[in-house]
Amino acid sequence: MSTTPAVIAIDGPAASGKSTVGKKVAQKLGFLLFDTGALYRAVTLAALQRGVPIDDEARVSELARAIRIDLLPADHNDGRPYTVLMDGRDVTWDIRSEAVDAHVSTVSAYPGVRTALKQQQRRIARRGGVVIAGRDIGTVVFPEAPLKVYLDASPQVRAQRRCQELQARGEPADYDEILAGVRHRDRVDSTRATAPLRIADDAVIIDTDHLSIGQVVDEIVRLARQRHLVKQNA
Ligand code: C5P
Repeated sequence: MSTTPAVIAIDGPAASGKSTVGKKVAQKLGFLLFDTGALYRAVTLAALQRGVPIDDEARVSELARAIRIDLLPADHNDGRPYTVLMDGRDVTWDIRSEAVDAHVSTVSAYPGVRTALKQQQRRIARRGGVVIAGRDIGTVVFPEAPLKVYLDASPQVRAQRRCQELQARGEPADYDEILAGVRHRDRVDSTRATAPLRIADDAVIIDTDHLSIGQVVDEIVRLARQRHLVKQNA
């Protein structure tokens, strides 16, 4: 085992399967899954609930410093990959609402918000034994990660997956609207000035369009073993 913390960074665009794949990889390896999108979503939800205008960068950044967000292992058997608490309140599903989807890219582009959340992410990464999913983990948050994966998929496949996910929860899902939303988030996430979505030079790119979840998981587990991040029998 190397002395660098065993961290698997999984970056990629909206709905590329980072949290689904990340959860399964984490289960197989006995790692913790840390889905950093949940942090940005929680800050966005807090702003919407407290009536802080999304355009007010200073106040939204202040909120990111003030609220406490905890990610815990799933404590309900309702399909959640993990439980998210905001100031102690369960907001696991609230942070997945359409309103949050529509505004989260604006919030996550604010440098003040990113700085506030970066410290928290590094603290958890340094413990090791963690799969961290996000947009800038391999490039900005934890560039020393010994395994970086970039999960990709076409906007159409990602919109389709997101539709199925919503339908499975009995929520309305309009494919065209979702596709437009995916494209919008891609544009904002990859063109923002601070920590844009980009592929780290040393990342392994996995195009998931024609792969099952199981195949993607197996490939990442294989890479983790090859790089000695886990014991061979884990
Ligand atoms: O991954 P998820 O779709 O839940 O992320 C929600 C949003 O949070 C993304 O569209 C992106 O704007 C932002 N995000 C980010 N950096 C991360 C994780 C998420 O900017 N590391």
